Amino acid sequence: MKTSIATVSISGDLAEKLTAIAAAGFDGVEIFENDLLAFDASPRDVGSMVRDAGLELTLFQPFRDFEGMPEPQRSRTFDRAERKFDLMGELGADLILVCSNTSTVSLGGIDRAAADLRELGERAAKRGVRVGYEALAWGRHINDHRDAWEIVRRADHANIGLILDSFHSLARKIDSNSIRSIPSDKIFLVQLADAPLIDMDLLYWSRHFRNMPGEGDLPVKDFMRAIAATGYNGYLSLEIFNDQFRGGSARSIAVDGHRSLVYLMDQVRREEPATALDVPAMPDRIAAHGVEFVEFVANDEEAGALAAFFRSIGFRKAGQHVSKQVTLYRQGGINLLINTEREGFAHSSYLVHGTSVCAIALKVEDAAATVERARALGAEIFHQQVGPGELTIPAIRGVGGGIIYFVDQGPELRKIWENDFELVEDANPPGHAGLAEIDHVGQTMVYDEMLTWLLFYTSIFRTKKSPMVDIIDPSGVVRSQVIENDDGSLRLTLNGAENRRTLAGHFITESFGSSVQHLAFSTDDIFAAAAALRANGFEPLQISHNYYDDVEARFGLDPELADRLRAENILYDADAQGEYFQLYSPTHNEGFFFEIVQRRGSYNGYGGPNAPFRIAAQKRSLRPKGMPRI
Ligand code: MG
Ligand code: MG
Repeated sequence: MKTSIATVSISGDLAEKLTAIAAAGFDGVEIFENDLLAFDASPRDVGSMVRDAGLELTLFQPFRDFEGMPEPQRSRTFDRAERKFDLMGELGADLILVCSNTSTVSLGGIDRAAADLRELGERAAKRGVRVGYEALAWGRHINDHRDAWEIVRRADHANIGLILDSFHSLARKIDSNSIRSIPSDKIFLVQLADAPLIDMDLLYWSRHFRNMPGEGDLPVKDFMRAIAATGYNGYLSLEIFNDQFRGGSARSIAVDGHRSLVYLMDQVRREEPATALDVPAMPDRIAAHGVEFVEFVANDEEAGALAAFFRSIGFRKAGQHVSKQVTLYRQGGINLLINTEREGFAHSSYLVHGTSVCAIALKVEDAAATVERARALGAEIFHQQVGPGELTIPAIRGVGGGIIYFVDQGPELRKIWENDFELVEDANPPGHAGLAEIDHVGQTMVYDEMLTWLLFYTSIFRTKKSPMVDIIDPSGVVRSQVIENDDGSLRLTLNGAENRRTLAGHFITESFGSSVQHLAFSTDDIFAAAAALRANGFEPLQISHNYYDDVEARFGLDPELADRLRAENILYDADAQGEYFQLYSPTHNEGFFFEIVQRRGSYNGYGGPNAPFRIAAQKRSLRPKGMPRI
């Protein structure tokens, strides 16, 4: 499997792009003409830079408005092509992309186009280069790879082949199975891109919203399966036009791109076992079964406040780590740790982020296989010193730098607690609130990093993603997307903040980076939980009374139920499958909060319609009296 990416896909000047592309592990690079024109070095030097970076120059592109031109434009077009062949000679490029003509003066006709390409093939052969013809989704006469293939077939020249681009074919919903009968030696290059489903002009969609395979909604896997079925074994090249990527970190976008190809091809390999693409083997996506523990880091003083916060919602002290300053708090199946070590990973995390979640542990089918898969997908493996006799828990670094531990389901789970902790009975336990499990973990990041997180989780774990929704904060928009598994035991909500004034954005600013911003705990009886919490001295987030008048009318609630919701500050939502109740804590330490939820029936959402009212209430609670709004 040979991977490539177009220079247009990432930010920076040509030298910065090449460095990032090589560092991410790509084998080749497409040189986009504008990147060359904007760069102050000769084509010969650029060719050397590519090779010095250890990359192969896979394609020079684009060459526009070629086929079907009437005279005198036709002659000029061929002259222009000869000039580009000169340039390719200097660069050391052997393949050029000709995309289908969009010019209003161009003439249609498959045979006319085939004749032009055949003549171009003759000229290319003399120069020792090849030409790949691609159907643009908005080409004037040719906008379908099936027609492009027919032109290439009729041109019948060894130096003329087809370039397939997933965006152009899938944006037009062309059946990928039509690719299966194309001879693999006539496919000169495969370009891959995904995109979110947005109903808009094809050209605008393509130029601004493409993203990495797996980040969008197009059936790129089916497209790639059809290509693999032809026996194609050439480069797989990302060609991504995306405004966000152009402004993002070249290094991280390149890493995402490489990961997206490895992930895509692992799926293709499983479904088209005869692929000639020689895809490295790795364990299949891992089934995760929920969160075993969440580890907070704090200094001694803040640890006391955090522990008091835990106790107010019914968590009891349940254990002490045998060699580290780590205390276990437990309720039902939920384990929360507070780490106050003065060295090691948790401490360095504290120095950067302050009191925050530094690690989560996921229960998985096979922890060793999880690490192996994550490594194959380019994740960083995390190692930490353990004391004598203590367990080494396999772990990787998450996107924001936090640690994700993996623990095997079954008896192994108990071992962590029995082996590494001194389990204790809380001498002065708070009232139990009936909290059972972690329902979901809410992670917050800057919007630009959101696709990185999404690809990270969905490529490693057997999870699916929901469509992105906008949450209205009084100071801006927060984008939200959910990653979850089929049985709902693992639910992660990702919130991407576009500005610092939203609650999510404020949290990122205060905690110096993306992190877990909220934990939601499940209960079978939200009203019993509310009563127990009240008895523990817990004060819930105060929800506006106007909200309850609306919710009562909107859902036609029994007035008695509406009164109980109002009295306990519980938010309510319902869909066709069931009901959802939410009770929020005020924010702790500039933005972290807890949520207690009850799902009745098969409600599968997260109370999205309530988010604006919850956020408004949190912002009120964050603002000391007399202080300006944040
Ligand atoms: Mg293309
Ligand atoms: Mg939530």
